[in-house]
Amino acid sequence: MSEYHRDLKPFQDSMHEECGVFGIYSSEKRDLTRSVYYGLYALQHRGQEACGIAISSDNKILYHKNCGLVSEVFTEEIMDKMPEADIAIGHVRYSTTGEDRFNNAQPLVFNGKLGKFAIAHNGNITNAKKLRDQLLHENILFQTSLDSEVVGTLINKYSEDRYIDGILHAAQMLDGSFSMLIMTRTKLIAIRDRHGIRPMVLGQIGLDDYVIASETSALDAVGANYVRDIEAGEMLVISSKGLQSTKWANEKKEFCIFEYVYFARPDSVLEGTSVYQARKESGRQLAKHFPVEADIVSGVPDSANVAARGFAEQSGIPFVEAFAKNGYVGRTFIKPKQGMRESAVKIKLNAIKSNVQGKRVVLVDDSIVRGTTSKQIVQMLRDAGAKEVHLRIASPAVKHPCFLGVDMQTYSQLIGAYRSVDEIRDIIGADSLAYLTIDMLKDACRNKQNSCDFCAGCFTGEYPVKIDMKELDKMVFDD
Ligand code: SF4
Repeated sequence: MSEYHRDLKPFQDSMHEECGVFGIYSSEKRDLTRSVYYGLYALQHRGQEACGIAISSDNKILYHKNCGLVSEVFTEEIMDKMPEADIAIGHVRYSTTGEDRFNNAQPLVFNGKLGKFAIAHNGNITNAKKLRDQLLHENILFQTSLDSEVVGTLINKYSEDRYIDGILHAAQMLDGSFSMLIMTRTKLIAIRDRHGIRPMVLGQIGLDDYVIASETSALDAVGANYVRDIEAGEMLVISSKGLQSTKWANEKKEFCIFEYVYFARPDSVLEGTSVYQARKESGRQLAKHFPVEADIVSGVPDSANVAARGFAEQSGIPFVEAFAKNGYVGRTFIKPKQGMRESAVKIKLNAIKSNVQGKRVVLVDDSIVRGTTSKQIVQMLRDAGAKEVHLRIASPAVKHPCFLGVDMQTYSQLIGAYRSVDEIRDIIGADSLAYLTIDMLKDACRNKQNSCDFCAGCFTGEYPVKIDMKELDKMVFDD
């Protein structure tokens, strides 16, 4: 796994989105590599393991990808070598497997029967192994362990005169989640799974240039205006003929609620709801329903700070920073050996003694996954002289794994899976612990224009897609 995370929960103590995608269609040839670079830069929090950009220029598809952060992989020298283009797509990847990292970097470029095409995929195809086995029996070989390669192979197999027919055929065969960009030599195609689980938005620059991204913050980064979210079960084709939308499935949208809790940037707006406002409202709800007498409210940096401010606003208890964060701990930070992990958290985060000494502290966090970091953070506050530490979590207990594009696939990784709130409180060592309920969280994330429902599978165990555990077991491909 990556050694760098955007917040202070190292060593898989938080959930991680596996990817971010960004694509651009321009009416005139221009330096799209730099546009995608800025877009991917804005999506770096969604994946730090590898990244890549593919462009369509003069009917050729060219690409560059590698392991590393966007700023490491795309140097000035590399970008100067990429020619001007009409279409480009990019990808940032968070890897869970680690092996063969380079081959698993995206976009994946295929030499298909109608010419080259490239894929950038965010999500997880839950029946990928079954589909892959069928293709292997047809003597089709695979070079990566990516479900996205299975998708590309299906697209090629079912395309006759046009790739879009193959894409529509393949989409009907796929279970799980996908927000995917496909670039042919002349088209940019965006497609979202039948429930719209992972995010995807459409933006526009001027009259004729279009941008597709995982989050609106990436549209802002390239000066694109937000147009709308891509719908669940929609395929949008962007070409010289303009936009052409096809609804290939008609099921209700069930958008990943964890995007609001943790994954997305607070300046993004997803499905019509501002992530910042959703987090602030979650904090307010926590204060309303789980009040506590205290002197200060603080958030675990950075992702819980907004919810902590909401808690402070609602309760009238002042928001005070309890921690200083070391902003220079990057991906080159060397993972300490077992037993030294406590000091690793301390290097990344330190309590501000003068703010917490002798105080009763409400500490707000966005979620608890494994609980090991929460325990260390609570202890850090006590060591700094806090009189009481009351933990308030701006989401329900994570009780179930995610099979839909997030790297948490076993129950044993979750402190909330088999324990009561009191047991968790005792393990973490807080004076009190309370979680937001799922209804409160849903209310905080809904807005009047937004009729979509949410996937909340990791909290409730009810997923929008049928999870075949036997099938999932087989998803660890044999080498
Ligand atoms: S189970 Fe659903 S809500 Fe939870 S992280 Fe996965 S997609 Fe998101």
